Amino acid sequence: MVQQSQSNVHVLVLPYPAQGHINPLLQFAKRLASKGVKATVATTHYTANSIAAPNITVEPISDGFDRAGFAEANNDVQLFLSSFRTNGSRTLSQLIQKYHQTPSPVTCIVYDSFFPWALDVAKEHGVYGAPFFTNSAAVCSIFCRIHRGFLEVPVAAEDLPLRVPGLPPLDSRALPSFVRFPQSYPAYMAMKLNQFSNLDKADWMFVNTFETLESEVVEAMAEVFPAKMIGPMVPSAYLDGRIKGDKGYGASLWKPLNEECRNWLEEKAPRSVVYISFGSMVSLTAEQVEEVAWGLKESGVNFLWVLRESEQGKLPCGYRDLVKEKGLIVTWCNQLELLAHQATGCFVTHCGWNSTLESLSLGVPVLCLPQWSDQLPDAKYLDEIWEVGLWPKEDENGIVRKQEFVNSLKVVMEGERSEEIRRNASKWKNLAREAVGEGGSSDKHINQFVNYLMSADK
Ligand code: UDP
Repeated sequence: MVQQSQSNVHVLVLPYPAQGHINPLLQFAKRLASKGVKATVATTHYTANSIAAPNITVEPISDGFDRAGFAEANNDVQLFLSSFRTNGSRTLSQLIQKYHQTPSPVTCIVYDSFFPWALDVAKEHGVYGAPFFTNSAAVCSIFCRIHRGFLEVPVAAEDLPLRVPGLPPLDSRALPSFVRFPQSYPAYMAMKLNQFSNLDKADWMFVNTFETLESEVVEAMAEVFPAKMIGPMVPSAYLDGRIKGDKGYGASLWKPLNEECRNWLEEKAPRSVVYISFGSMVSLTAEQVEEVAWGLKESGVNFLWVLRESEQGKLPCGYRDLVKEKGLIVTWCNQLELLAHQATGCFVTHCGWNSTLESLSLGVPVLCLPQWSDQLPDAKYLDEIWEVGLWPKEDENGIVRKQEFVNSLKVVMEGERSEEIRRNASKWKNLAREAVGEGGSSDKHINQFVNYLMSADK
């Protein structure tokens, strides 16, 4: 339990300005607020307007761009991060100074681990600093080991499958792409490694995962990465099944077509619908989109497909009309609501970490179509370790073909194996709820953090 005391504890939460980072950090801010802490989210001007959550103040800072910064930097991650570092440090400092003149001075900055410079800002102002890792502990472990020099990349062929303490053996298919092909992604690799550059100065570190899901990994690396598992950062209304009227995380970078999805789902039988989404960033090849499209048609299932506007041109010509009896294709929705709906029977996912945690937390079986980065190890865990779905095989060009898709979907939706998958999904749902519920492992870790800040504040 959190000590019930009046406190002036104020935590500034700094997410990376992308949907998959804002969601978990905003949820963390909401959890802190529910425990009597003042929580403020500091984010770029262009994302600040997309966030509206009760009891959370949102403050704009600058990344040096006027509009969507990453796009303005021509998707040059190095340029974007360096501009954010310069302008973000300056404007974050100004924000802290502003609050220092008020009755709510900042006590701690919880920052996205992609912004290690925020720890320097915290220390300059004499406040606590804690990175928040938005991927799995397994992924943290891999990159932390590379950063410490315990693991060399690229991994030599004779070292495959890769053995990392606490993780299952990883063959090349399940390695994060930046590890498999480090030369192809120098800026991303640098960003992933920089997360660990100043951890020795951090006061806490948080990972959006939970003990029953990944305890072996965290134990195996406790000395170099003593992170607290505080997830899953999924709004409690969805974990408890109290979803009517809930708005999800409270942040949406695109306009969600919730009403349309809700009405369409209402008429469908329980567990009859396949929900498909590849998240907020991934861009599939047109060839892969077509294979999925024809696979869905051939399966004859009801499906609800979130395909961002920029991706819709990849659909086969006339496809919408062809499938209008069975399928709804929208540009964005509140994913939590779709996953929590009783009509949803399977989630075809790119295995981003939030989507992974959301499917586990809501007990929805998955069909994994990971595209790159950490999605590859996430897919391996979903299929082989947590056993809540299938990862269909790609052909030599990296494409999951229509027939493989159709066969795999059938295994997840029907028959003996699907029952086992559903049982496992339901087990993880209960364990996720337990972890964040009162007295659960994640709840305890948040309470320890809050209690520490409150007692230090006296
Ligand atoms: N999401 C959503 N509506 C959609 C698709 C995705 O609200 O139509 C949310 C989803 O619930 C998740 C986030 O966007 O919280 C995507 O994060 P994830 O880590 O799964 O993938 P990313 O977009 O970072 O690749």
